[in-house]
Amino acid sequence: MENKIKKRLEEIIHPETKQSIVESGMVEKISIEQEKIHLTLRFKKARDPFAAKIKREVQQTVEELMPDHAVIVTLREGEATKPAQPEKPRTMTSGVAHVIAVASGKGGVGKSTVTANLALTLRDMGYRVGVLDADIYGPSQPKMFGVEGYMPEAEHDPETNFDAILPAEAMELKIMSIGFFIQPTDALMWRGTMASNALRQLIHQTKWGTLDFLLIDMPPGTGDIHLQLINELKLSGAVIVSTPQQVAVADVVRGVEMFRHPQVNVPVSGIVENMAWFTPEELPQNRYYLFGKGGARTYAEQNEIPFLGEIPIIQSVMEGAEQGTPAVLNDPRVGEYYRSICEKLVENVMKSC
Ligand code: ADP
Repeated sequence: MENKIKKRLEEIIHPETKQSIVESGMVEKISIEQEKIHLTLRFKKARDPFAAKIKREVQQTVEELMPDHAVIVTLREGEATKPAQPEKPRTMTSGVAHVIAVASGKGGVGKSTVTANLALTLRDMGYRVGVLDADIYGPSQPKMFGVEGYMPEAEHDPETNFDAILPAEAMELKIMSIGFFIQPTDALMWRGTMASNALRQLIHQTKWGTLDFLLIDMPPGTGDIHLQLINELKLSGAVIVSTPQQVAVADVVRGVEMFRHPQVNVPVSGIVENMAWFTPEELPQNRYYLFGKGGARTYAEQNEIPFLGEIPIIQSVMEGAEQGTPAVLNDPRVGEYYRSICEKLVENVMKSC
């Protein structure tokens, strides 16, 4: 929202300097509360004759944009005395526009498979995409994309003295996985702070470059590691994957509550119902609802959470995951399901930012 306000304010030009008030740094602060917006404008010149006019324009512009908020504009004069800047955590995520968590209440519902196929579908829609596999309990993205055995190297930048970790690149995606660093048998040891620290490094040190979307394959469930991942990054949204069973849906509720918790406050971009039904090849008209029918869809509708779509049980989905070629690449039926899901996802993410 702050960016939206800034964008509008860019159009306000100081009549004397002929510069936009945003570009010339006059908009010192924008803080948005529930019902109020405070803006601070700084005029370099004392008693700037245009101060009142600009203040009025800012006030009107923001009121028009956010009619439900009271707008309070404060004026300051002279050069700002810069407060000592706290040292920012150094991160390579600054070129990433949207970070989206892909989560599930429990393991085995297809979260990793969905992450990989979403990533490729977004790529096909023209976006630059990265995948961070943070599933410490069963990192599977290296296998999904056929980059098992990749050994990440570090690249030292002498100017900043910063070591960046180079991600794997496959199918035009940037891929980083905790699985590049741990043996599957070590997963149990990797709980708690050790896992948290490793994930923190992967988030900030991976050389992501410029990305439209970074998808995070989260560990299943809800817990400290989730909260840490969420705190570490500014998430644009979360996708929750579920199967239709009632028990799986009960876990989804916890996931949704975690993201919606006021201290976390990540918009839930939608729910995907995976393994929604099975259609045998020889009976293409039949749908067998092996795990029950529409549990996740019903829950989403009842709780006003966007429902992104269903994906049936399809053999090519399972085979694609095994062979390192996610099914959207080869099976147009699967491609269609994912395309529709991704279109809604992108729309919801853009709406909420
Ligand atoms: P999670 O990440 O939730 O633990 P996975 O993505 O590893 O789950 O999926 C679990 C298993 O189910 C994998 O063998 C995967 O290939 C299979 N699978 C996932 N979604 C589907 C689907 N729609 N159709 C067929 N098999 C699927």
